[in-house]
Amino acid sequence: MSKRFIGARQTTVAREIEVSGTGVHSGAPVSVVIHPAPADTGICFIVSKRGRIISQIEADVRAVRNLTLCTVIGDDRGVTVGTVEHLLSALRGLCVDNCFIEIDNKEVPIMDGSAAAFVDAIDEVGVRELATPRKFIKVLKPIRVQEGDCWGELTPHSSFHLDVEINFDSPVIGRQRMALDLSPGAFRQELCRARTFGFMRDVEMLWKSGLALGASLENTVAIGEDRVMNPEGLRYPQEFVRHKMLDAVGDLALAGAPLLASYRSVRGGHRLNATVLKSLFADADAWTVVHAPMVREAPHVAGYDASLGMAAVQFAANRN
Ligand SMILES: [Zn+2]
Repeated sequence: MSKRFIGARQTTVAREIEVSGTGVHSGAPVSVVIHPAPADTGICFIVSKRGRIISQIEADVRAVRNLTLCTVIGDDRGVTVGTVEHLLSALRGLCVDNCFIEIDNKEVPIMDGSAAAFVDAIDEVGVRELATPRKFIKVLKPIRVQEGDCWGELTPHSSFHLDVEINFDSPVIGRQRMALDLSPGAFRQELCRARTFGFMRDVEMLWKSGLALGASLENTVAIGEDRVMNPEGLRYPQEFVRHKMLDAVGDLALAGAPLLASYRSVRGGHRLNATVLKSLFADADAWTVVHAPMVREAPHVAGYDASLGMAAVQFAANRN
């Protein structure tokens, strides 16, 4: 029997994977190649133009440049990558700690509006364990951010628990709340296929502003006055709140390592998720970096945190 806790080591993708599609805001074609990376790289975007690397941008909350409709990260010279949240969500959801993401345009492709295509791509090559212990960001005290009637809160927890509530003034959505402990299995089954959504009444305004140019029923759940406009209907009960959970997993991946925390969000979105993370990192007493124990004997070691063994199992790379 292995003495290692499953999931105690950092991971990367087993080999490179290419995914191509269209940017939802630009409408432009884009291709991303996810490359394996060594331990402690984290997730790092490599922006290329006509085959030449023009910037390297870490998926880190300090690199966030815009949060109006999607999460945009960038460097100091104005090079940006937008709509990163669904790809980051798939990587965090499947416990990929390290990779380089080479991208040849300004926006990650929207695919079908969910994280399903990225999950399929990662599954095609698999996840590989590295020799280095997995790193976590352990939340030590509650951090709460309130903005009007929206609020988000991180509290200490032994794994990563997510509890999201939305409330839209639309009979199609209304109030939805869902909670789960994140694991690759739960991410695959409950969240990864939930699509982004938008209101028909907003589309014209977005198009006039040069946004959502690539949005269609192929990649967005379109909400009319009293019904979903997509002929195929919804993929899950409460698909809307599930998509907000998928977004939150991706936005919180900008912490740079998996969180040991419970996250509750009410009427939130990309902006609130990023503000909560920034507030966490602004308070040095609120968090610490911990490493997963590598051997079962670890509980006998002084100062060992028993909860980490469980967390390591929660974050185990699922090799199905
Ligand atoms: Zn989204």
